[in-house]
Amino acid sequence: MKKLALHGGIPARTKPLPPNYPGAVLMGTEEAEHAARVIHSQSPFRFYGADVQNTVQSFERMISEKLGVPYALGVTSCTAALVVALKALGIGYGDKVIVPSVTFLATAGAVISSNAVPVFVDVDESLNLDPNDLERVIDEDVKAVIAVSILGNPCDMDGVMAFAAKHHIHVIEDVAQSCGVKYKDRYAGTIGDIGVYSFQMNKIITAGEGGAVVMWKPELFERAVRYHDQGMFRPVFQNLYGIESSEEASSFAGQNYRMSEITGAVLIEQWKKLDSLLLSMRQISRRIREKLTAEIPSIVFRKSADYEGDIGSNIGFQLRSAADADLLLQASAAENITMYRLYGGKPVYMLPQILFQRTAERNNFPFNYPFANPVVYSEHMCPRASDLLTRTVFMPVSPILTGQDEEEIIDGLHKIYSTLVF
Ligand SMILES: *Cc1c(COP(=O)(O)O)cnc(C)c1O
Repeated sequence: MKKLALHGGIPARTKPLPPNYPGAVLMGTEEAEHAARVIHSQSPFRFYGADVQNTVQSFERMISEKLGVPYALGVTSCTAALVVALKALGIGYGDKVIVPSVTFLATAGAVISSNAVPVFVDVDESLNLDPNDLERVIDEDVKAVIAVSILGNPCDMDGVMAFAAKHHIHVIEDVAQSCGVKYKDRYAGTIGDIGVYSFQMNKIITAGEGGAVVMWKPELFERAVRYHDQGMFRPVFQNLYGIESSEEASSFAGQNYRMSEITGAVLIEQWKKLDSLLLSMRQISRRIREKLTAEIPSIVFRKSADYEGDIGSNIGFQLRSAADADLLLQASAAENITMYRLYGGKPVYMLPQILFQRTAERNNFPFNYPFANPVVYSEHMCPRASDLLTRTVFMPVSPILTGQDEEEIIDGLHKIYSTLVF
């Protein structure tokens, strides 16, 4: 067996893997030309201008057609999309929302921005929320659960939906990291009440920033549109969707989370590339996993509630211990095979703003609500999340990896696993 680069051997690759920005690395003429058309039209705002191109509206239609849901709304980010979703569902001060312990800060932060309070559940071996842990945190103040598909791997929606039906709570699917992921042949984001997407650069397709909200019910759509646009429901939506609604009777104070026409133009072109991008990532990651499984009998990958639905944007390697994970990180870096530990190996509630319940408001609003069961967070609340995050290592799978990249990754990992005997 060849010597590890960590031990002075020749690295499996001469240079690091391409960056993990699947949409951004495929950006080019199409996005540039479409964005230029908006700029030349001098109409960068979706609702008025000299010659509005209706890019945001077209993008919304593309989303709803592909996902098979009647309503889609473009917004400025997925954080905004989460707040819009929570507000569309009428969630706010005095409510609790279930959030998985493994997610990006935004999932919990958006709950707090909506004046509700997150309660955390543990994860299963997939690192997505464990439906069996939901009963532990339910009480009459819990109004919704946010199911997050972490790094392209779908959440166990059957478990979540059964729990939500039993307790009459809402389901939001946070698909920020996993645009295109499916669970049992259905697009994640269309299974619960509302799905939210991110088009920030670190996600699957991108305009730098951007987000979307999708849903089935017209009454939720109307509230979502209103919240994202200062409480208004402009005539264009009434006409497009045949939803009549009076400002006098139905408006409420909202925000400005409107998507720009330039963002819409870029996202139309990115959306057209989504299927081929997903196909590449799925095929590459499947080949890498299959070859590694054949060569390394002891290898353990992150579990999935639906391997077919996984978009393949990352491969998760599960090690026996945090020390083994450290070794794999060092050895793979030396081979120029980029790997990383998700969220610094810590559950989201360990971030100081969450753990210490610090908000920008007076008296720690909204945490100051006199809940019957007080909300307290502690380090050991979700032991499986703490454990799995320290001993799982991820490798991003870019859609532009070449056959040679694949071989080098497989050779390098084979060398590492057999030398270090994981
Ligand atoms: C990135 C991310 C968000 C927030 O997305 P933005 O578009 O950056 O606001 C929300 N949830 C999850 C799980 C994310 O990874």
